Amino acid sequence: MDPARTAKQRIFLGREGDEALRSKRVCVVGLGATGSVIAPWLVRAGVGHVTLIDRDLVELSNLQRQLLYDEDCLGAPKAEAAAARLARANPEVELRAVVADLTSGNARELLSDFDLICDGTDNFEVRFLINDMAILTGTPWIYAGAIGGEGLVWPIHPPRTPCLRCLMEEPPASGDVDTCDTAGVLGPTVGAIGSWAAMEALKILTGKEPHREIARFDFWENERQFLQPPATRCRFCTERITEFLDARWTLKASPLCGLEGVQIRVNPPGALDLALLQGRLQARTGSPWQLAPMLLRGEDGPNRITLFSDGRALVHGPMTPERARGWYAEVVGC
Ligand SMILES: [Zn+2]
Repeated sequence: MDPARTAKQRIFLGREGDEALRSKRVCVVGLGATGSVIAPWLVRAGVGHVTLIDRDLVELSNLQRQLLYDEDCLGAPKAEAAAARLARANPEVELRAVVADLTSGNARELLSDFDLICDGTDNFEVRFLINDMAILTGTPWIYAGAIGGEGLVWPIHPPRTPCLRCLMEEPPASGDVDTCDTAGVLGPTVGAIGSWAAMEALKILTGKEPHREIARFDFWENERQFLQPPATRCRFCTERITEFLDARWTLKASPLCGLEGVQIRVNPPGALDLALLQGRLQARTGSPWQLAPMLLRGEDGPNRITLFSDGRALVHGPMTPERARGWYAEVVGC
């Protein structure tokens, strides 16, 4: 990598710290609002390899705070749009875009061989999978969450530090937590939280001890707290029990938060033959279905449907989760 690229960073970190980043491999899970801030800081800093995992497509309501995307990206998979944008910021970093839903069926494969995993999701199911991988492999990870005007950052590295399950044994019930869909979120909140998380990432990657407390900021109410992590360790990280990685399920259909629609997920993720399904769906619906790399899109009655090559589907329209499940089983087979 051309040393001129990171000259100002090198003055601060020193040559050794700057060059240490070149050999590091980082995974950013979730390229929404916080991931959109974390990933560019790492790529621009010259981290050797960055894997970008996201299952979603860019929507208009993302542009208010998801800095990696613009109007040209609408409808594109976030992981791919992010990789294309970041490759222009620093073409010397090896980037890998993964358009996939992280599940117990693929987490071992997708989250192995990294020096650090950064949480850019807003999803406890995924955070508990990352925490299990950290317990299993000893990989450090950084929790980052933002909602409204507040956010939280916590670097986690079991067994050296407590794990997420030491703080909360189970993911909160979905009705118990505010989400961006119920509480909303301001763009600068995720900007500040994502940057804080990226700062902790640079410490970890250059061998400096990260902040061991749970940092909570309410930027809107001008409050900050540094909370001590739990003093006692849970049995999951002390005995290396990885319940979430070991969970098995096959087909889930759940309503999409805040939007009229259903998401269908498959575990373990499969590999759909989208070209074959294109023919089948065109015959079934009598309308054209568009095939793009990794996805197939079309309409069945009043429902707009996107099928992904990893087996997922998004249904926008009046279809209920139960009917969507039936539709999927009938059309795709399962
Ligand atoms: Zn623990």
